[in-house]
Formats: sequence, structure tokens, C-alpha cells
Amino acid sequence: MRTIGVLTSGGDAPGMNAAIRAVVRQAAALNMEVIGIARGYAGLIQGDFRRLNTGAVADIIHRGGTILLTARSEEFRTEAGRAIALDNLRREGIEGLVVIGGDGSFHGAVHLAKKGMPTVGIPGTIDNDIAGTDYTIGFDTAVNTAVEAINRIRDTATSHERIFIIEVMGRHSGQIALAAGIAGGAESILIPEYPVDYDQVVERIERGRHRGKLHSIIVVAEGVGSALEVSREIGKRTKLESRVTILGHIQRGGAPTAFDCLLASRLGAHAVKLLASGASSRMVGIAANELVDRDLETILQEKKTIDPDLYRLAEVLAL
Ligand code: ATP
Repeated sequence: MRTIGVLTSGGDAPGMNAAIRAVVRQAAALNMEVIGIARGYAGLIQGDFRRLNTGAVADIIHRGGTILLTARSEEFRTEAGRAIALDNLRREGIEGLVVIGGDGSFHGAVHLAKKGMPTVGIPGTIDNDIAGTDYTIGFDTAVNTAVEAINRIRDTATSHERIFIIEVMGRHSGQIALAAGIAGGAESILIPEYPVDYDQVVERIERGRHRGKLHSIIVVAEGVGSALEVSREIGKRTKLESRVTILGHIQRGGAPTAFDCLLASRLGAHAVKLLASGASSRMVGIAANELVDRDLETILQEKKTIDPDLYRLAEVLAL
């Protein structure tokens, strides 16, 4: 294999640039050329290609977002769109493709692999909602951003003796909420994987007030529903006012943490080595800090679950 392509797709995540850099530099070490594809599958259909030499990825390891830009493409979901994409790849002499993105992007990668284009996926999404890896690129940074926000809000919550409800990202996954909630010392953490128990939330608030603790932090994953609804429900039950903060897209931006830079560097290099060895339709990941790779289609059928011990720990520590 002499030439490989790399693209970023779906939502951007801090650390994607570090992964692109690792792909380019590992490829160079194996005497392979790398073509960057702009705007994910949309750019693949438009033929928006740019050669990436080792200098092109200098000074990006610490930058959030993705220098290749990212997009969502409806056209790529059609057979016709994917046929154009495949033609473009072949015309450019690309013999293997690295796809950095989330599960939607990997569905697209499987299609390309089935048509004979070797593909390897790198999990890049802040949600950490992909099976086959302990961590996705960007998750650690997003959790750190959320914890910093929680700590700032706690200062106000303590000073004003108020209840604060903080909504974090995670439409289908409570991974960010659980990690940030535990690390940020939240009293209650509401995630879509477990039924919301308002009786317990209220009990915790009231137990705290009996002890003389008049402030409370409740972390809610967006998949649970609106934080405003949570606030209204708590108000109805306790007659206490609460303030709502929705962290939103600030969780997606910013410089990647050292953890994410290291993870992205390892996964990027591993993906290239796999392609060079003739692998296809695989996803790289880490399990117990070891590099691993698994079949993409199998991973897409699995669901990443919340560690029940972590969930229980949150309950014990918040007492
Ligand atoms: P994130 O988790 O950050 O949202 P993602 O990779 O899951 O990232 P999606 O918007 O679901 O993001 O997918 C990105 C792109 O992948 C889509 O715009 C589409 O072009 C392609 N894609 C998604 N699902 C499929 C599918 N089933 N078949 C073909 N292509 C798909």
C-alpha cells in the first residue's frame, strides 16, 4: 500500500488533529503517502482532497477541532453517493482509508470496505459511546471541561446556597455525565441508561439540608430530557428554586488534554499499521491500556454500557 486517505466525520472532538498527525507521521515512517479529505464523506463525494506531508501536520497536536473540517453527508447514505465517493478514492490512487469519527461514520466505513476499499476506523467522539474501546478520543477533554464548569458553578451554588442543575452532552449516553458528576462531586447524576428517580434526588437534597448543606449540584445528561424540566420537577416537589446551566458546545471545543493527545497518537499510528498489514473493516481502540482492534460491524452491533460499579460509586460518594 503506497497511498492512504484520512478523513474526520460526524461531530468534531478534541484530539482529532493529534490523530491526523499520527496517521501522517506513521505513514511517512512506512513510506506511504497520505491524502487528507476535507469535510468527511461530503468532501469524499466532492473530491476535496489535499496531500498531507509531515510538515502539513506540524503544530496541530494541541489544537481542538479538526484541520480537515468535518460534516454530515446525506448523499453518502445513498448507493449513488457512495459510488461517486469510491470512484474519487480510486482516481486519486487511494488504496486504504482511515475514518476518524463516531458510529455513524463507521457505518459509512463498513459500506466502503464491503466495496473493496480497505478501511480502519478511529473512535473520535466526545460521547465515549462506542463499544470496542475503553475511551474515545475527545471524551477526556470534554469531561475535564465539564468538571471545570461544575467547580466554577459550585462556588456560586455554595455562596448563594442554591441548587444548580447542569446539563452536559450525551443524547444517548450518560458517560460524560457520570464521569464529570463523580469527578465534580455532584449530589445526583441523571443519565439515560437508568430510570430517573426523583424521589431519590429530592431525598438527597433534603438530607443535605438537614445536615446544614443548603447547596446542591445535579448533573443531567441531555438524553434524560431538558434540564429545565428537571428543575421544574424538583421545584414542584421541594418548593425550592433551582438554577439551570446548559454547557452545550463548550464541551466540544478547546485544546485536547494530554490523555487525549496520547490516545489519539497511539490510535492514529495503530490504524496505519493495520492498513499496511492488509487489514480492513477494523476499529482500533484501547482496552486496559493495550492497543486493540476489532471488527467494525461487530462493534456497531454492540452497545457500550455504563459500568454499574461506577454508577453505584456515584451513589455512595454523594451521600
Ligand atoms: P458523532 O457521534 O460525533 O455524532 P457520528 O460519526 O456518529 O459522530 P453521524 O452524523 O451519525 O456522526 O455520521 C456521520 C456521517 O456518516 C453521516 O453524515 C453520513 O454521511 C455517514 N453515515 C452515517 N450513518 C450511515 C449509514 N448507516 N450508512 C452510510 N453512511 C452513514
